[in-house]
Amino acid sequence: METDVVQLSDLKKVAPVFGQTSFDDHEQVVFCNDKDTGLKAIIGIHNTVLGPALGGTRMWQYTSEWDALNDVLRLSRGMTFKSAITGLNLGGGKAVIIGDAKTQKTPELMIRFGEFVHSLGGKYITAEDVGMKTEDMDLVRTVTPYVTGISEEKGGAGNPSPITAFGVFMGMKAAAKHAFGTDVLEDRVIYVQGIGNVGEALVEHLSNEGAQVYVSDINQDRLEEVRDKYGVNIYGGNNLYAEEMDIYAPCALGATVNDLTIDQLKAKVIAGAANNQLEEETRHGAILREKGIVYAPDFLINAGGIINVYAELENYGRQEIIRKTENIYNTTLEILSKAERNDITTHQAALAIATSRIEARKKEK
Ligand code: NAD
Repeated sequence: METDVVQLSDLKKVAPVFGQTSFDDHEQVVFCNDKDTGLKAIIGIHNTVLGPALGGTRMWQYTSEWDALNDVLRLSRGMTFKSAITGLNLGGGKAVIIGDAKTQKTPELMIRFGEFVHSLGGKYITAEDVGMKTEDMDLVRTVTPYVTGISEEKGGAGNPSPITAFGVFMGMKAAAKHAFGTDVLEDRVIYVQGIGNVGEALVEHLSNEGAQVYVSDINQDRLEEVRDKYGVNIYGGNNLYAEEMDIYAPCALGATVNDLTIDQLKAKVIAGAANNQLEEETRHGAILREKGIVYAPDFLINAGGIINVYAELENYGRQEIIRKTENIYNTTLEILSKAERNDITTHQAALAIATSRIEARKKEK
């Protein structure tokens, strides 16, 4: 009998969803499975106080289903705060499809995924993320209106990545202003890790401004292509974190600021596009602060993409997209100063503003 009790409490410790370390009062988590197309997806809806949960779909070959669940929980939570701090009337959601986007993504699989999105009746609205293209969203659009990031020919705002990159560039300039007293990036040594859709567009802004750009990627062809196009340097070493640099721009995947890398970091500023850059936001945020590294919160500076897709829902045009994205510069400066004034991490300062907006809306309801 006693053994039974022990086993029950052990079970509680590994409770698969509500017991996950990344679970943070998410409203709904939906597991989608379709044998015929091979679709295995998870939709995470973190919070819908400000509006429907909008966030992209990521297709990735996760090493385990636990990793996929953990990712969708972290990403959807990040979307809640991203939309809140950007002043958009949207909640936070995200979806992950387990699989290799290069070999396992088929039109049938995308349409089936769209049907699952549709079944949620608009509580979750999808868009593209890693492994997705506007063409994929166009396919989803054939079975549900609850999708953004569709192509311009189909009436959408098109690929959000260039706007995301512009917002990151604005946030990076603000962080540079805070750290170095000037936002001019000419001659600054900047490492861009991951030169996909966003990374490449960021490299273009940086090289136009005359920064000394180093790029790294796991894809050698991309590296050569981007080097030839913008005249930047390919990072040839195997430990980018330990290199002398002014700015580190993570533009691949999240959690690169972690226990293994944080002690090695020599950058004075971290500003990039990747979501969830800090593996443990409170602890790693505090270590960065102690080390005097200015961290521009990811969910604040990579909001250009959501501003772009939100235009499809609110029907505002290009000019307003640019204006809102440019404003990331001012918000970033404000948050970095607030953090300094209040002796808190920049991540905490950004989170506090986002949370207060959500709480205020809750009171109005
Ligand atoms: P992408 O898939 O186009 O590019 C990612 C790049 O990172 C690829 O070139 C890939 O080869 C590379 N990469 C993967 N692992 C790497 C590693 N270990 N080291 C170096 N490079 C590696 O994705 P994207 O759309 O450019 O997005 C990049 C990041 O920005 C993602 O974290 C995404 O969630 C985030 N983000 C994107 C948008 C958007 O509008 N696309 C908006 C907000 C946030």
